Amino acid sequence: MTDLFALVRDVPDFPRPGVLFKDLTPLFRDAAAFRTLIDALAAPYRDAKVDAVLGIEARGFILGAAVALRLGAGFVPARKPGKLPALTDREAYSLEYGHDALELHVGSFAPGDRVLLIDDVIATGGTARAALALARRQQAEIVGAAFAVEIDFLRGRDVLPIDVAVTSLLHV
Ligand code: AMP
Repeated sequence: MTDLFALVRDVPDFPRPGVLFKDLTPLFRDAAAFRTLIDALAAPYRDAKVDAVLGIEARGFILGAAVALRLGAGFVPARKPGKLPALTDREAYSLEYGHDALELHVGSFAPGDRVLLIDDVIATGGTARAALALARRQQAEIVGAAFAVEIDFLRGRDVLPIDVAVTSLLHV
């Protein structure tokens, strides 16, 4: 993992002063590193019978869609307000650098669907918590939440439901 994450670029003061942004775009650009990252995110869930990956806008789409293909699962986007065209459910949340909300199409999941949440970074955990709340309102069964990078000092995993298994590849 050391080589992989040498490709994560730290961008100070983005998008707000005081935030050290973990930019994964150089890693996405490197074919071998990107493949290794996707394989590592998917590996713990190979036998988990995942029906769908839930990816969070926007970098969670890049990782989530690739992990879904790797697992033979479908993909469901959780999007910023006003982006999804059909009937949606909404959950407001706070994040490291502000407040926002996520929306999910109504009917994305059937009761008991096995869902894996994917995003690039977990910081304060508010975004992931909102996505999980939306999925659970549709009675999805959460098989786990996987992140490329976890910013440990922000303790985001502590705000996720205790019964959700969290895997992060890099702790910073
Ligand atoms: P949070 O809700 O605070 O856990 O924030 C997680 C969401 O915001 C994820 O979708 C991340 O892509 C993004 N994010 C928050 N903080 C950072 C950071 N320091 N570097 C990169 N992305 C971040």
